[in-house]
Amino acid sequence: MKTKHCSKCGIEKELSEFYKHPTAKLGVRPDCKECRRKVSSKFYKENKIKIRQKHNDYYLENKPQCIKRNIKNNRLRARNNLNVRILRNCRSRLYTALKNERKKIIFNKFIRM
Ligand SMILES: [Zn+2]
Repeated sequence: MKTKHCSKCGIEKELSEFYKHPTAKLGVRPDCKECRRKVSSKFYKENKIKIRQKHNDYYLENKPQCIKRNIKNNRLRARNNLNVRILRNCRSRLYTALKNERKKIIFNKFIRM
């Protein structure tokens, strides 16, 4: 198994502990995933408002495509992931049951009046 020293923390780690990089010598980034996550999370915290604004602007400019893509991805997720399917099914059944219960309560109120 090939290993590499991280450029940030200096610890020797397996190549699977590094994110891929197509033009790098070993095909991976110089810093390990752990160090990369720290940098990314720090950057996000410092630029949170800017990043959110940028995402929001993109969404508003490309709303139809975004909605279309979300629907497609949600369908794919439900098709490929059993947990998602079970969760949605339970949510739907619970909603229907509660809706019917509410109807019964309203119906009973009118009957007793
Ligand atoms: Zn590191």
